Amino acid sequence: MFPFRGLLGGQKALVTGASSGIGRAVALALAEAGADVVVNFIGSSEAADEVVSAIQTIGSKAIPILADVSQEAQVQTMFKRAIEEFGTVDILVNNAGIQSNAPVDGMTIGQWNSVIATNLTGQFLCAREAIREFKRRGVVSTVSVSAGKIICISSVHEAIPWAGHVNYAASKGGVMLLMKSIAQEVAALKIRVNSICPGAIRTPMNESAWENREAYNALMPLIPYKRIGEPEEIGRLAAFLASDYADYITGTSVYVDGGMMLYPGFESGG
Ligand code: NAD
Repeated sequence: MFPFRGLLGGQKALVTGASSGIGRAVALALAEAGADVVVNFIGSSEAADEVVSAIQTIGSKAIPILADVSQEAQVQTMFKRAIEEFGTVDILVNNAGIQSNAPVDGMTIGQWNSVIATNLTGQFLCAREAIREFKRRGVVSTVSVSAGKIICISSVHEAIPWAGHVNYAASKGGVMLLMKSIAQEVAALKIRVNSICPGAIRTPMNESAWENREAYNALMPLIPYKRIGEPEEIGRLAAFLASDYADYITGTSVYVDGGMMLYPGFESGG
């Protein structure tokens, strides 16, 4: 049985990049907890439609909305539509993200800009619209003790440097202080902002790290707990952080990484 069933009843969530991987699992977990969910996606609608159907099967409402989170006008239109359809937004999960890897001296300005635009600017644009709505509506005590919740999907790479991925690591390092600064700014308004920092999770983004036994084994020295994480493990934490059980948690990064942050190179001495 899902541990948070009913906890988010009456709440409206918007999950970016919700048609695959972690975003999909988060959307389903929020729905299991009782929230209605906007399934944001980019590209073809097939996968988003599947997530919408799965949410409806659970018993919550869902709508797919196509929008590129790096584009201001598209983000504004998405929130306008979400509020028209659902009346408000109580929970934003800033999940959409990309990688475009290259050695630093071979990285193009296009690779740099696209990753910063989606992973960092996209989180700012969505957080700004969400906070505008949270401030407009204020606390509705029958729904939640908080006026709104934002969960940023960051990464262990907000703290761990990553050679060959300077654009990605810089974007996630930026998300850390974006999240903390917004949390500080809006705490008095009863708006909570936190990050989930996944380690290695089994999603399309890092398929090369788990698709065969050799790659999987090569990953294990980085993970003291000796297994990859599953998207549902991020979903369950998102449902908890969005709930009033987490009401005293704001401005923090929660790592879900099997111990990747524990300097595994020191496992057998140093
Ligand atoms: P994924 O590729 O399955 O999901 C990313 C989603 O974002 C996709 O659905 C994609 O279509 C969407 N997206 C990309 N650009 C977009 C845009 N401009 N506008 C709207 N949507 C867009 O990979 P994932 O692993 O599920 O990644 C989700 C988040 O988790 C990302 O922010 C990623 O950085 C983070 N993360 C993943 C891992 C991991 O191990 N998988 C680890 C740490 C952090």
